[in-house]
Amino acid sequence: MLLQDKTAIITGATRGIGRAIALRFAQEGCHIAFCGRERNERMASVEQELQAMGVKARGYAADVADYQSAQEFVKTVLADFGTVDILVNNAGITDDAALKRMTEEQFDRVVGTNLKSVFCMTKAIQPSMWKQGHGAIVNIGSVVGIAGNYNQANYAASKAGIIGFTKSCAKELAARGIRCNVLAPGFIETDMTADVPPELMSTWCQRIPMKRPGTADEVAKACVFLASDLSSYITSVVLPMCGGMEDA
Ligand code: NDP
Repeated sequence: MLLQDKTAIITGATRGIGRAIALRFAQEGCHIAFCGRERNERMASVEQELQAMGVKARGYAADVADYQSAQEFVKTVLADFGTVDILVNNAGITDDAALKRMTEEQFDRVVGTNLKSVFCMTKAIQPSMWKQGHGAIVNIGSVVGIAGNYNQANYAASKAGIIGFTKSCAKELAARGIRCNVLAPGFIETDMTADVPPELMSTWCQRIPMKRPGTADEVAKACVFLASDLSSYITSVVLPMCGGMEDA
């Protein structure tokens, strides 16, 4: 198994891509600490699914966009699990609008969640990874952070920011055996994309050479690669997984 007896923190794993990553990691023997903004039935059910796979798993209520909350989350996980080998910064939101109509609040909320959470969590985990002399950090970006997108200036800015942040951390932490990479999915079917009208969905699919959206599990498989020793000499890369879209 590729992640046998490792421990991972996965942010935003109560559903969607984060949950799929947690399940794949557990299948590879990894213990899982994950979070969502509140402890609810959905969190308890993911926790049970993971535990049934024979790994240690616990869900935590934490707002990873809040510096103090991220610090407390990581501190509690380290106390509960002992060590953390892998951090997957997956939590993210959208709040789309054309620039003409986008408010300051919409911009601040999306950048403040998607980009600041990556800073807060990396900052919180860095001392323990530095001390142990190894670690893998996978940040979930988006092809939109590379190519931009209509109605998503706030989201694209947050995801482009993740690339610059990751590459800087990769340089600073490489000598201590800590690898930092970005996984940049294209159009993936989850709650985040559930409201896309069928006509728009079909137009988008026409632009994808593979003519279909990706699945959360396909993102999870690529995440196993970046989190495991399969990618032991890879750091500071942005790996697009978008069915071959040219502008990514
Ligand atoms: P979902 O909306 O399905 O899930 C988002 C997850 O993030 C939930 O578990 C939610 O938990 C959690 N979350 C949101 N804000 C916070 C916060 N402040 N603190 C803690 N947890 C939080 O999204 P997806 O699974 O679709 O997306 C996951 C990631 O992948 C995001 O970063 C997204 O930008 C990225 N992505 C998605 C694509 C897609 O097409 N779906 C394409 C490219 C990238 P809860 O609600 O329980 O608090």
